[in-house]
Amino acid sequence: MPSESESEHDKKPPQCKGRAYYFPNVTDEEWNDWHWQFRNRVTSLEELARFLPIPAAEWDLRKQVLKDFRMGITPYYLSLIDANDPDDPILRQAVPIADEYHYRAIGDEDPLGEENFSPVPGITHRYPDRCLMVISNSCAVYCRYCTRKRIMYEDAVPDFEIDRMVDYIARTPVIRDVVVSGGDPLTYATQKLERVLSKLRAIPHVEIIRIGSRVPVSLPQRMNDPELLEMLEKYHPLWINVHFNHPNECTPEAAKACDKLLRAGIPLNNQSVLLKGVNDDLVTMKALVHGLLKMRVRPYYLYQCDPVRGSEHMRTTIAKGIEIMEGLRGHTSGLAQPMYVIDAPGGGGKIPVGPQYMLYYSPKEGRAILRNYKGKVYEYLEPRPLESYPVPVEEPALVGRSNGNGNGHANGNGCGNGAANGNGATFGGCGGISAPRFDVPVTPARSNGNGRSNGNGRSNGNGNGNGNGRAESEPSAVVGKSRWARRRSTRVVNKDGNGKE
Ligand SMILES: *Cc1c(COP(=O)(O)O)cnc(C)c1O
Ligand code: SF4
Repeated sequence: MPSESESEHDKKPPQCKGRAYYFPNVTDEEWNDWHWQFRNRVTSLEELARFLPIPAAEWDLRKQVLKDFRMGITPYYLSLIDANDPDDPILRQAVPIADEYHYRAIGDEDPLGEENFSPVPGITHRYPDRCLMVISNSCAVYCRYCTRKRIMYEDAVPDFEIDRMVDYIARTPVIRDVVVSGGDPLTYATQKLERVLSKLRAIPHVEIIRIGSRVPVSLPQRMNDPELLEMLEKYHPLWINVHFNHPNECTPEAAKACDKLLRAGIPLNNQSVLLKGVNDDLVTMKALVHGLLKMRVRPYYLYQCDPVRGSEHMRTTIAKGIEIMEGLRGHTSGLAQPMYVIDAPGGGGKIPVGPQYMLYYSPKEGRAILRNYKGKVYEYLEPRPLESYPVPVEEPALVGRSNGNGNGHANGNGCGNGAANGNGATFGGCGGISAPRFDVPVTPARSNGNGRSNGNGRSNGNGNGNGNGRAESEPSAVVGKSRWARRRSTRVVNKDGNGKE
């Protein structure tokens, strides 16, 4: 008789995924050929229904979505989906679902204002020394949450536009770093991509070229093409930013593709997007960053999902992102920590957000109160002019207190712990990992005297009343806001998917 846990297990449907399940008759030669993968992408609901169950009630809704935003799924990426799991994380990234229809009118076409910061079409020049160059509207897989979801109904980028972009960079000497993105530049034929890279490399002030690509994730067979690797190697220093979102994407094929790029001397950094139902939990995110390190890919950014039209169903709260970051820092390798950023609506650029570890900082006092990943609180003292250190300098008596603390108020354990506890209480406890503390003020308490005195309980009793520097005035004017555009009409995608490639 099976034990209870075994019978529980029996109730779970078997996993239906993998190449052997979906594509049993495809030869190795076909499967490993990126052209075959690209040609055989699933682009219609009818084709998709041959592989995955589609709820009857959703058929029309999904059809409607596809009139607005196209679909494209390589056989390889499809094979990662468990056909028995309607909430499969790969499916959610690539397959339109009813929610995409329901929320279709919410959000912005161009949430980052990329087209407003555009000196010539295709270039976004937002930061002083680097720019973004969108050279393609084609991707191997179309991600349902794409920030540039507008590419899903735009036409191919013509060569003359690319030439104008290169020309802009050539006559703008402050640009030393060019991000070549799309769409996906690695879906280009090798010669077509080389045309762009060679022109960029010929510009003396362009120091580094970065390519943003999801191809190692969605079409790793592309890296089976030695010509591509030989070509890329000619344009060093070249970096590639890849885009893995879920540990299920860290497959042997993807690892091999990354290995080939790395062996061509190209450092790989990963940019993930925090996505509801895909990777918005700590266990998944930890498995992802570990999977990346095993492939020698460094986690770089974790993006808060942009409020782009057609992606609303995949957004999470910021608190969720902070909670995940809190669960990574200290708990696992420093190498595994991405930087969590919000790309500011309207074009403010990437803004780091995350758990607050500095609970208090006063440059005037030369003192900071910090907490570590376990919620323990520490005081750090800054250097001072020599004459302000009391003589004789006592041996520091505290654990967890920086040296050079014989500055008068340091009179033993009482002070250190008192300050610490006082702050802890003020902030509603420093322990635990889940409660986001984004309301904790850490603006240095110096300037405008609006530090509210909420006495941080220093045990030496000289309550110094400069509190936590809680800003009582509103932060300065909001400079960029999301727009919740509500569109009535839908645009129709070119049926032939733009006929690139
Ligand atoms: C993200 C981005 C860059 C590159 O930013 P880094 O923080 O240097 O990776 C450059 N330009 C634009 C418009 C961007 O969105
Ligand atoms: S690969 Fe990148 S550009 Fe293409 S659809 Fe996905 S997120 Fe958008």
